[in-house]
Amino acid sequence: MDIQHNIQLQPYNSFRTKASARLFCEPSSTEELLEILKSYPREKKLIVGAGFNIFFTHDFDGLVIKPGMRGITIVSEDAEHVEIEAGAAEEWDQFVGRCVANGYAGLENLSLIPSSVGASPIQNIGAYGSEAKDTIVKVKAVDIRSGDFREFTHEECAFGYRDSVFKQTRRYVITSVVFRLSKSFTYKEKYIDLSRELEGIDSPSLAQVRNAIIRIRTRKLPDYNLLPNAGSFFKNPVLTTEEKDILQKKLADVPIYNVGEGRFKTSAAFLIEKAGLRGKRSGMVGTYEHHALIIVNYGTENGQDIVDFMHGIQYEVKKQFGIMLEPEVWIF
Ligand SMILES: Cc1cc2nc3c(=O)[nH]c(=O)nc-3n(C[C@H](O)[C@H](O)[C@H](O)COP(=O)(O)OP(=O)(O)OC[C@H]3O[C@@H](n4cnc5c(N)ncnc54)[C@H](O)[C@@H]3O)c2cc1C
Repeated sequence: MDIQHNIQLQPYNSFRTKASARLFCEPSSTEELLEILKSYPREKKLIVGAGFNIFFTHDFDGLVIKPGMRGITIVSEDAEHVEIEAGAAEEWDQFVGRCVANGYAGLENLSLIPSSVGASPIQNIGAYGSEAKDTIVKVKAVDIRSGDFREFTHEECAFGYRDSVFKQTRRYVITSVVFRLSKSFTYKEKYIDLSRELEGIDSPSLAQVRNAIIRIRTRKLPDYNLLPNAGSFFKNPVLTTEEKDILQKKLADVPIYNVGEGRFKTSAAFLIEKAGLRGKRSGMVGTYEHHALIIVNYGTENGQDIVDFMHGIQYEVKKQFGIMLEPEVWIF
């Protein structure tokens, strides 16, 4: 297995911040990964997928592992469902496109999310009323500490809002994911923006839903090749009843979604916008002028500049509305 030395990580994060890794490898099979873990038991390890939800603030004196497992296979099927296993390194949207082209339903609302398949369970990627957890039945992974291979059932993944056991423990390298998709599809309204985009189409097909999502996302989100970013920078805050009541006194029109068990989700974008911070820029970092939740890099290579800007946003939102925004992006 080829281990590279002193590798620049700038191409491996969509914010394009600079940092170097002392060691870097891209195992293309579980066997290669196990061999590496055995050969480098004491090195600190960092897993990087396609780099769309991580940025670097300092060099890494250890081993970066970029899972390179490929392959898409049908593992079982019956008249109504199909179970498909995809390798960690498969590009997410290509995988979604392939499923849609074959008439397999369940992933279409997650079209165009920049991700590797292997990272999809980590923060349980979600968009337009769907989440990866709705279709994931199994995750295959290797325990970095013990070197043991393990299969996680859906329940063992402990999925939550932008959360999972993998994110909580940071202990596993995901090698592949198994999705259960449906062979039939009937459009159900889950998200108002999407229904608007599909207006005039009776019973939209899978491909029409996917194309509508692609159009909306292309309009709304900055192109990370032109304006480096990591998508939504902060999580939508989840509040207790008391916190929700206090917030509503300050902002009567704040969007609130009841997520059950006495918890209420609100919109981080709305809070940033109401704090007057959409389109705010400080040096080479700013919030995107068309979407307050996205922090964009106008030219810095120093991840600390992004962290400093983030602190400014957190401070202002906390001061005005009493809510502490938490980053969704992983800052390393
Ligand atoms: C323009 C834009 C739009 C976005 N829109 C959305 C959206 O709508 N919904 C949404 O949920 N997210 C969105 N994101 C965030 C991003 O798409 C997801 O977080 C995605 O899953 C990141 O995948 P990645 O392969 O790039 O992971 P990376 O950024 O490389 O890694 C993310 C985390 O997962 C870990 N990791 C990655 N691969 C593995 C693996 N195989 N095994 C173990 N750990 C691993 C890393 O250590 C890191 O902690 C967006 C990002 C951008 C840039």
